[in-house]
Amino acid sequence: MSFEDLNLHPSIIKAINELGYTSPTPIQQQAIPELIQGHDVMASAQTGTGKTAAFMLPALHRLATPTKVQGRGPRILVLTPTRELALQVSDAASKYGKYLSRIKVVSILGGMSYFLQNKLLSQTVDILVATPGRLIDHIQRGRIDFSRLEMLVLDEADRMLDMGFVHDVESIASTTPASRQTLLFSATLDSTIDKIAARLLKSPKRIQV
Ligand code: AMP
Repeated sequence: MSFEDLNLHPSIIKAINELGYTSPTPIQQQAIPELIQGHDVMASAQTGTGKTAAFMLPALHRLATPTKVQGRGPRILVLTPTRELALQVSDAASKYGKYLSRIKVVSILGGMSYFLQNKLLSQTVDILVATPGRLIDHIQRGRIDFSRLEMLVLDEADRMLDMGFVHDVESIASTTPASRQTLLFSATLDSTIDKIAARLLKSPKRIQV
């Protein structure tokens, strides 16, 4: 299978080709078609399997079509357990989205200045990558408008739960539109993950690699 077979927007394919990716990894082959069709997905995949592109390419594909919803808030929200992972995800978004016009990626991480973050959040955002604790602060201060939100990604969900973020994650999800598409990636899919998936995902396709 090639990336061309996945029906991704040509500007995304161009970026992928330039990076030298020749074919999609197993998680990408399985997840991308389901995600482009709009299904919720829960997938077990370790770091190094290409899981970031598995959710970021369909997210960017969505952004290639303008939204009719008014507002400046993010259309894609990715929650990660750590700052390091959030920065990797932001880099991937910019890298894969470089030929799509005007994709604005913002990261909101603990330990960064509120002043700077408020400034970033007052502009139009397409992809917001955040750690749960700091994002909750901004939501409570009324600084984030999720009316445009189309996709919520929980990256390394098992680690977010281990770090005690379960209530933050659920509380963030509850402020986003019910019509959103929800994705959950985790190293393992066990009963704890199943419980949160049952609350946040709608008839998810389960993918194991
Ligand atoms: P991840 O599992 O998302 O941390 O990705 C691991 C590494 O694989 C990253 O450095 C990506 O740039 C790279 N990668 C992702 N998808 C592909 C692909 N289809 N072909 C080659 N490399 C890839």
